[in-house]
Amino acid sequence: MPKMRAMVVPKAGAQLAAEEREVPEPGRHEVRIRVQACGVCHSDALTVYGHMPGLVYPRIPGHEVIGTLEAVGRDVDGWEPGTRVGVDWSPGACGYCEACRHGNAFACQNIHGATGVSSDGGYATHMLAHVSALARVPAELDSIEAAPLLCAGITTFNALRHSGARAGELVAIHGIGGLGHLGVQFAARLGFRVVAVSRGADKEQLARSLGAHDYLDSDRGDPAAALQGMGGARAILATVTDGKAMQSITPGLGPNGTLLVIGAVGTIPVDTLDLLMKRAAVKGWYSGTSVDSEDTLRFSHLNKVASMNEVYPLEEAQAAFDRMMSGKARFRVVLRMP
Ligand SMILES: [Zn+2]
Ligand SMILES: [Zn+2]
Repeated sequence: MPKMRAMVVPKAGAQLAAEEREVPEPGRHEVRIRVQACGVCHSDALTVYGHMPGLVYPRIPGHEVIGTLEAVGRDVDGWEPGTRVGVDWSPGACGYCEACRHGNAFACQNIHGATGVSSDGGYATHMLAHVSALARVPAELDSIEAAPLLCAGITTFNALRHSGARAGELVAIHGIGGLGHLGVQFAARLGFRVVAVSRGADKEQLARSLGAHDYLDSDRGDPAAALQGMGGARAILATVTDGKAMQSITPGLGPNGTLLVIGAVGTIPVDTLDLLMKRAAVKGWYSGTSVDSEDTLRFSHLNKVASMNEVYPLEEAQAAFDRMMSGKARFRVVLRMP
């Protein structure tokens, strides 16, 4: 039996190490995927540095996985070997718990954790996944291109489509990086009036080329005041990693506006009078489940939304991770499997 190859985190804080393992057999409700591509995401730092309670090492990171089904467990229905699939952060859902039955599969009470954190992920030639964690991939979509859509893509797309904003309404994308450069594209394709907000003038041209109708340089004035001058935002997608910046743009919300928080930045104070006078909200948004990923992939393919990627071979996963952590990658980093 040929062996699988993986880049594993041997213990918290250690460098990624190449390892050969037996190719695993899928359990009853599992599938085995021959991985083709896996995105390298900032959240992989949770696994690499051990910032998640209960992490068991060695662990294979990676939750932006594209590959083909190689084997299916004996109780898997509806999925055939050879099908190209994606796996995101969500490890799947049982389908029978209280949360699942109420349509909240993201909060499943029986299947917990996250791909590449509580179970081995996609920095490998092979991985196992629960069948409910699978998304179908449009045939025309390239595997490398598709991978980052399973985290940066689903998170921004799914938050925006649940933001309450309707076509024509003002939506601000705060931060133009790995998440924001996709957020601008999704917001424009969803028909919003899109304002990109970032520090400095150098991102303006890029933001406009991705579909932004306006650009606010937060170094040259208060973006919240500027948004108010435009009538106030129906939604602000906060992709910045700085709590202070997130707090300072919140007054830019208009009537019934929603600040969508999609990344953890700790605690931010919010002016409650401002919120109540506007009936505004600050809302967290978990990326989504496998069917949301499937929607994201299809929408991205149909509407030509794509991330800008830097590609590394699997064996150079450490260099790829360092590059992502440096913040200098434009904009997502993807591993290509041998
Ligand atoms: Zn991620
Ligand atoms: Zn459940």
